[in-house]
Amino acid sequence: MEDLIGETPLVALRRVSEGCRVPVLVKCEHLNPGGSVKDRIARAIVDAAEGSGALRPGDTLVEATAGNTGVGLALMASSRGYRLLCVMPEKMSEEKRASLRALGAEVVITENAPPGDPRNFQVVARRIAAEREGHFLTDQFRNPANPRVHEQSTGPEIWRQCEGRIGAFVAGAGTGGTITGVGRYLKRMDPRVRVVLADPRGSRLAGLLGHGPLTEGGSYLLEGIGSSEVPAVMDPSVIDGVEVVDDRESFTMARRLVSEEGLLVGGSSGTAVAAALRIAREGRVDGPVVAVLADGWDRYRSRIFDDAWMARVP
Ligand code: PMP
Repeated sequence: MEDLIGETPLVALRRVSEGCRVPVLVKCEHLNPGGSVKDRIARAIVDAAEGSGALRPGDTLVEATAGNTGVGLALMASSRGYRLLCVMPEKMSEEKRASLRALGAEVVITENAPPGDPRNFQVVARRIAAEREGHFLTDQFRNPANPRVHEQSTGPEIWRQCEGRIGAFVAGAGTGGTITGVGRYLKRMDPRVRVVLADPRGSRLAGLLGHGPLTEGGSYLLEGIGSSEVPAVMDPSVIDGVEVVDDRESFTMARRLVSEEGLLVGGSSGTAVAAALRIAREGRVDGPVVAVLADGWDRYRSRIFDDAWMARVP
């Protein structure tokens, strides 16, 4: 299984990109064995923790996750002989809980509470790891192995696949690991590459990064990206601009990627592609725009791909 992580395809959009002045290319991270970009950091975090001696045979990995990192870590746990406990906010889909349990993880559901609140999923995970013997906090929001693996693998793959010609790179941010690591690498190779954050409406990141008014933030249905604070592993200096995308546009684009492009992806891929299309249509860059397809559709069938559920999205 571990050999299947990374080296994902990069393909050009053909139909939803009609009218674009430059090609829009998508990095198919949903084709990783666990179905998301997070398999990369799961392996990198376990490798680093084994290397430093912080993780010992038979330990339990503890992670605060929107679901995808949990799946990646569950694969690593079974591959290397660890147990896994995932702490997940209640807003995440039923499919994600069921998948994690099927993969052998213990799942603790927390209320949707803001960072710092004792009920917040990250705070609960930290507390469990501190209190229990043999529990190791994988800590994707702070672990430097997260952005590093994107700088060392995702970024170089994209650069190679584009043969060194990229106008802009677009991704959403949950931990910010992907955009930070890939952005750093691409800018080192060519400082003209524009790194653009695709942020859900309701997230405060756009304002916190100085790319728009500082808002109170609000609730949104999209899972896995956006934040009310700048995550520790995110490097704001690599981000040149932000495109704000609302739930309906993200979900509609995810459905079009499925039905028109045959790319079986989830909501945050819709966010990234919607943002990438704006840049490509307006001709704001003169090279291809690359967007990340972060995870697969299977986690959202009862939501984004359910007509009755979609009809209730504002
Ligand atoms: N899309 C989805 C669905 C995710 O779960 C995540 C991570 N939470 C991301 C995108 C963003 O990845 P990163 O944590 O590297 O910013």
